[in-house]
Amino acid sequence: MNHELYQQTILRHNRNPQNYGEMEVCSHFAEGFNPLCGDEIKVYVQLDQAGLISDLRFTGKGCAISQASASIMTESLKGKTLEEALEIYDQFHDMAIGKLAENDIDTLGEAGVLSGISQYPARVKCAVLSWHTFKAAAEGQQDKISTE
Ligand code: ZN
Repeated sequence: MNHELYQQTILRHNRNPQNYGEMEVCSHFAEGFNPLCGDEIKVYVQLDQAGLISDLRFTGKGCAISQASASIMTESLKGKTLEEALEIYDQFHDMAIGKLAENDIDTLGEAGVLSGISQYPARVKCAVLSWHTFKAAAEGQQDKISTE
């Protein structure tokens, strides 16, 4: 991990989160909570007629990593189909727990800067919360999900 790049990216997204805000009407929605850290998140997904994610937003509060990861998640998954997005979710999740090959980390683009998180087990849940919540929304789970 390039530590400086990691820190800069987290700070930038935390200060200026992308796609932050509610959606009054959306096709998929879920709420997530990480009790270990107190991070909370709501994820809103809108699909267009072709089945692509035309809009993806989040709201929530929590630590810098949870908020930055949510911001990166929205940018990474917009324009994909739900199926493609769930494949990216799988890769991100494997990366967060240190099980993704170096070459595959590169294909994750900006989300790849979070690869170093696998070295900090206590923060892994902060990083995966928004992604986990996206997955719950995509799969139509209505209940509030928890990382625990
Ligand atoms: Zn956190």
